[in-house]
Amino acid sequence: MVNNEKLTEFLYYRGRVALCALLRSLNIGTGDQVALQAFTCVANPEAIMATGATPVYIDIEENGVNMAADDLEKKISPEIKAIIIQHTFGIPADMDSLLKIALKHNIHVIEDCCHTLETKYKDLPIGSYGIGSFYSFEWGKPIVAGIGGALVVNDDELSKIVLENYLEYSYPSWKKNFKIQLQYFVYSILYRPLLFWPLKKLFHALSSIGIAESNYNPIENCNVSGDFSLKMSSHIQSRLEKRLRILGEITKHSSELSQYYYENLSNSKCSIPAVPEKCDTVFARFPVIVKSKQDVIVKAKKANIELADWYNTPVHPLEGDELKKVNYIPGTCPNVEKRCGEIISLPLHKKVSKKYYKKVIKFLNNV
Ligand SMILES: *Cc1c(COP(=O)(O)O)cnc(C)c1O
Repeated sequence: MVNNEKLTEFLYYRGRVALCALLRSLNIGTGDQVALQAFTCVANPEAIMATGATPVYIDIEENGVNMAADDLEKKISPEIKAIIIQHTFGIPADMDSLLKIALKHNIHVIEDCCHTLETKYKDLPIGSYGIGSFYSFEWGKPIVAGIGGALVVNDDELSKIVLENYLEYSYPSWKKNFKIQLQYFVYSILYRPLLFWPLKKLFHALSSIGIAESNYNPIENCNVSGDFSLKMSSHIQSRLEKRLRILGEITKHSSELSQYYYENLSNSKCSIPAVPEKCDTVFARFPVIVKSKQDVIVKAKKANIELADWYNTPVHPLEGDELKKVNYIPGTCPNVEKRCGEIISLPLHKKVSKKYYKKVIKFLNNV
């Protein structure tokens, strides 16, 4: 992993705000394009569009969950000023092939490390290959600090520009802080795998009436959203620093659990997405490709099994016409559209006990 000092140098309100800050510092804006994989969440296109630039979607590998080099090569153009490489579920992208294309066309590479802090690709941790990388600390990520994002910059000149801009960012209002703190408090006392489905429902209900801070801003407002000029509040910063101290434990737990899932998953209707050779993957959640996703989800709800269904759409959670608003044209990423209908993921966080993860595997082996 990049060291803690570097990770806590530039802390923003959210992961997407960190991404936007990096794009702005690279002078990317109106008239430019930024390539990213589909099979992502709306946070990334929101950050791109907040700079005035346009997102261009690249398909994923046929058997994997990360950006496909051949589709990137096909869609590359002089308007594309940066490529965001996402390490989905913590699985590293095929960096060798992707970096080669970026180098050939002289395009900046940004790594989306929101799903993992500790994965290694070849000899180096992910996050050290691009000009910068960004992280998120909200619910569902390896380190949960409530809400928040970090930016790591791997270039001294750029770092100076990022710092100059960073000084202009302000702290969230007390009202916003209060909401986030309350949300974190409720999450930390209530959350356990058995309450996954009811809490998810509650969270969506609360954010739809504005009581909880939603993951998804109404896309029409994203260009004017004040969130993109906010840094991380001091409460969240100190919580983040505490959580980072136990990152080793979090990683160990997640690695042991994923090993267990890997060895005990025996259902022939399930498979695991491709992982590149010579890498050390630390998963955010354990991804499984299933034959009949909807059926599995319905059964999981009934059996009270924590099983995430993302990404359900190419730019999660947008559907239909909403996808066009973030520039995704249906049919342009066929592997993504297929994968959305077959991916689920299993929990790896610290609240999953040994008894519970056995229950999860038993469930999956019998669906
Ligand atoms: C969570 C996440 C983000 C950004 O999240 P924020 O909610 O803005 O902190 C970006 N990319 C991926 C892949 C993510 O999972």
